[in-house]
Amino acid sequence: MNPTPPLDHLFHSSQSGRYAQAMHLGVSELSAALARTVGRPATGRAPEQASKPIADVDLDNPLGDIPAALAEMRALYLDDAVWFHEPAYAAHLNCPVVIPALLAELFVSGVNSSLDTFDQSVGGTYIERHLIEWTAGRIGFGTGADGVFTSGGTQSNLQALLLARDHTHLAWPGTPSAALRIFASTDAHFSVQKSARLLGLGEEAVVAVPVDEHRRLDAVALARALATSAERGEVPMAIVATAGTTDFGAIDPLADIAVLARAYDTWMHVDAAYGGGLLASSTRRDRLSGIEHARSVTIDFHKTWFQPVSASALVVADGRDLGHVTWHADYLNPRDAFDTDSPNQVDKSLQTTRRFDALKLWLTLRIMGPEQIGTYVDTIVDLANATGSTIAARSDVELAAVPQLSTVVFRFRPPAMSEDAADDLVPRIRAALYERGLAMVAATRVDGRRWLKLTLLNPAATPADIERIVDLVVELGRELGTEAVA
Ligand SMILES: *Cc1c(COP(=O)(O)O)cnc(C)c1O
Repeated sequence: MNPTPPLDHLFHSSQSGRYAQAMHLGVSELSAALARTVGRPATGRAPEQASKPIADVDLDNPLGDIPAALAEMRALYLDDAVWFHEPAYAAHLNCPVVIPALLAELFVSGVNSSLDTFDQSVGGTYIERHLIEWTAGRIGFGTGADGVFTSGGTQSNLQALLLARDHTHLAWPGTPSAALRIFASTDAHFSVQKSARLLGLGEEAVVAVPVDEHRRLDAVALARALATSAERGEVPMAIVATAGTTDFGAIDPLADIAVLARAYDTWMHVDAAYGGGLLASSTRRDRLSGIEHARSVTIDFHKTWFQPVSASALVVADGRDLGHVTWHADYLNPRDAFDTDSPNQVDKSLQTTRRFDALKLWLTLRIMGPEQIGTYVDTIVDLANATGSTIAARSDVELAAVPQLSTVVFRFRPPAMSEDAADDLVPRIRAALYERGLAMVAATRVDGRRWLKLTLLNPAATPADIERIVDLVVELGRELGTEAVA
């Protein structure tokens, strides 16, 4: 017989006091760190500085007590973490998160329900279902709609394309996978191509459709591509419309795409991972009009709904389409006479064990309500517009395009500076901003040229805060540009 193991670290009814104590220590640690972050989104630690002290930790020798472990974590991680709530953080699609969702996290991980089956989640299953139904309602889907929470837009897009593939195989029996085509704009997210590869479609499967002058999928070019493809005997499997492209926030012409999808009897998927927050806006919801014609929609709640990672959903107009991922296991969700009515979410998901991420959105809606989220979305769109106008009016910076959602693509380029010189400065300015702990911005390429990108998702940031980042870019551009000449 082994000795009885100590239970003091187990989430267990006998340890409720210790549980509360540990959580209080954690909350104190984090709120103290939060209070310290003012003015600095990051300290600028480099990979070689970050890696060694972590590699040196001997994982076979525990520290044993909570305060010591928290102090170690602070030094190894927290002190140099990147803070998305800082106005000078404007790099990727990371949002500051809302407190009601963090409150929910406590229950998500503590209770640890798994949303695969009703018998592991009970109310959780119905909370998720109600949120999906609500989201479907905002999209404008009818009563047959359904969906499921996923780990992110990448998984949502993969599942959507899997459903589209299986649907196409059913509709056109005998079609070889090599003949299937997915149409998406050149600016669509890379997860579309990645999904095509994971689904065993050929390298040629994704047809890149040109964008118009606003970087939206060009519907005329799409019509041409569909016709050419049909002439070659290929089968259109899906059209992916993006509602909010990662670089320019462009929203493809959803209504025009819907007409073509109908004409070719093809699955229309809308990747609204980024633009999905507009569903909550009371002034800009119309920008998504046409989304209701989709057969499936990706929404990332962990982007423009201010939820912690992960929180995403795939929503489908016809819930029966989800049947393409249903699989029965005798031990979990058996297909037998006694169990046919069990409401098991695993029947709709690519995952089995699955976090109850939906609870975060639930408490957000129950505490804040959707209107406040919509106000946040409007604020960041306004912020991007204001920043775009400021940049357009300056002669030392160049704007790549008028902002459409909440990104601003620009670069340092005073009069007389060549394109090549401006290109050369982009990565150096970006690196210097990070290394000096001043600000964080992203970089991208547009038609072969390098640009800086601000992704604005912080409703607490002001136009002055963002102008400060632009000023820093200019200051560094001058400094580094002089160095290059010298
Ligand atoms: C972020 C994003 C994705 C991928 O979502 P993840 O949650 O990062 O997996 C897909 N499409 C678009 C348009 C995105 O912006």
